[in-house]
Amino acid sequence: MSSGETYNGSCFCGAVQFTVTGEPAGMGYCHCDSCRHWSAGPVNAFTLWKPEAVKILQGGDLIKTYNKSPRSIRKWCSACGGHIFTEHPEWDLIDVYAAAIPDFPFKPGVHVHYQETVLHIQDGLPKLRDLPKEMGGSGDSLSE
Ligand SMILES: [Zn+2]
Ligand SMILES: [Zn+2]
Repeated sequence: MSSGETYNGSCFCGAVQFTVTGEPAGMGYCHCDSCRHWSAGPVNAFTLWKPEAVKILQGGDLIKTYNKSPRSIRKWCSACGGHIFTEHPEWDLIDVYAAAIPDFPFKPGVHVHYQETVLHIQDGLPKLRDLPKEMGGSGDSLSE
């Protein structure tokens, strides 16, 4: 178990409670069509954690799963419909939605899948066409 701060998270209704501990492997915004369609929002704020950093405290039986592709196993609370996190098995990372961990100091470092954006954000952060090279993408940057 990694050392460090522990932050509380929950689904929209609060029936599912969980914690994240330590430092995430990455944080930023995803503009991909899948994230937008599933979240019903123009952009998704993500925080990526090693699986052992995420601990379900209660409501685990309410968590439902859907995966359109084997790369993204999406989890939500069946009581309220609130999205909680998405498992990315090939990267061994869990994307915990920044909105589900309100006390965590979200510090975005990058925008990914910016070629699919519907909401241009001029915040000076790098805008990757798809994903970083080490995650199987092109690593290419786009202008804001
Ligand atoms: Zn809920
Ligand atoms: Zn996405």
